[in-house]
Amino acid sequence: MTPAVSSVAGTKFEAVIGLEVHVQLLTTTKIFCSCSTQFGAVPNTNVCPVCLGMPGALPVLNRKAVEFAVLAAMALGCAIRKTSIFARKNYFYPDLPKGYQISQYDKPLAERGFIEVAAGESSATARKKIGITRVHLEEDAGKSLHEGFPDAAHKTAIDLNRTGVPLIEIVSEPDISTPDEAYEYLTRLKEIILYTGVSDCNMEEGSLRCDANVSVRPREQKELGTKAEIKNVNSFRFIREALEYEIGRQIEVVESGGKIVQETRLYNAAEGRTYSMRSKEQAHDYRYFPEPDLLPLVVNESWKAEIARALPELPEARRARMVRDYGITEYDAQVLTASKSLADRFESAAKKAKNPKRVANLVQGELMGRLKARGIEIEQSPISMEGVAASADLVEAGTISGKMLKDLYDLGFERGKDFPVVYEEEGRPQQSSDTSALEKMIDEVLNANPKQLEQYRAGKTTMIGFFVGQVMKASKGQANPQVVNELLAKKLG
Ligand SMILES: [Zn+2]
Repeated sequence: MTPAVSSVAGTKFEAVIGLEVHVQLLTTTKIFCSCSTQFGAVPNTNVCPVCLGMPGALPVLNRKAVEFAVLAAMALGCAIRKTSIFARKNYFYPDLPKGYQISQYDKPLAERGFIEVAAGESSATARKKIGITRVHLEEDAGKSLHEGFPDAAHKTAIDLNRTGVPLIEIVSEPDISTPDEAYEYLTRLKEIILYTGVSDCNMEEGSLRCDANVSVRPREQKELGTKAEIKNVNSFRFIREALEYEIGRQIEVVESGGKIVQETRLYNAAEGRTYSMRSKEQAHDYRYFPEPDLLPLVVNESWKAEIARALPELPEARRARMVRDYGITEYDAQVLTASKSLADRFESAAKKAKNPKRVANLVQGELMGRLKARGIEIEQSPISMEGVAASADLVEAGTISGKMLKDLYDLGFERGKDFPVVYEEEGRPQQSSDTSALEKMIDEVLNANPKQLEQYRAGKTTMIGFFVGQVMKASKGQANPQVVNELLAKKLG
């Protein structure tokens, strides 16, 4: 990732950014009815009177949705409110059959959390806390379809399968100052949510959606500038680009004596710019009021404690512990905790191996490159972490060389077999430390390369590397390079 050049750098302005993230919870049924939440089902098949908003149908709260929301909120450092209230958010839209969305308003489920990010403009190690104002539960609306069916050119279709799917909305404080910080906040947020397992955070399927509020103000000014809201951006990279563009645009407007109008804007990724969608005059007045069909949601201490038991070790803490336990670098830890699954696998291997640091190096240097080249995930790797641990021990003991390990990994990927299997199939190869055989090879190499030998004797001692290389080649990579080095030095000395 190349950090974008902040558009406020070198100007007398600073940007103020707040993010609203919607995350779909991985329950099998909807939040207020027992309809399936399965993605990609035939349109309008996962519906019932409750999620269609038929008169007289009553919502029943999904216990699992509450537990997932509480777990996510805890992972984000929030305080869980003992009693939270569901509220109706009233607006008319074709994909909202009830005419209101059940959400939470003045008494949300959780408040006052934070996420730590690298502080944008100061030193590399400085951290900055981005506050989380609230995490609340709500139901999703349906989806308007503008393409993919016969009349799409002049009609819009509605799919109500998504209506009533459980969401949490995570609202940040306006603590974010640069598009890079926004990008990192979102990356950390997604990582934490993935670790809790309450969502798959799949942006293509809309399981994670983000809106950004952004304004600019002169650096010395306390009062916030007028904000614009950027909606429906479907990747973190585009959010960063949209913010870059929008901050630049607002500074230009202010500097040329204009006024920022409060409005909702859409980002066009192909053009790299934002466009006005609707102004404040068209903004919704949601007329929130308490949902009369649902009781206040009470999360008491014992339920909270029960949910807290499912809270995993979070990425930040895990990285710190891994650096401590395995003697790996911060960078190693960062790469190896990219997903919980990778981190779990690495740790199980590192615990079995004699040298965990070597396992870390092999995973990053030999395994991940090969996975990437084939476009497969760690879960599909023919070489398991146990295989990595076994191979690390063989190198550690000097039984095989690094070159031999590479060849065996290649064979493992070619044959779709784990390291120990390939190692057996190849007849448990060993690097040769048999000095008499090596001495013979060295003599042959020296005889075959008189010119290089002459150069060496004339004082070009770096030639020794060439000879080592030739001997390694002659031994088909099976010679122990250290032993070859010693023997050569003796012979030439
Ligand atoms: Zn339903």
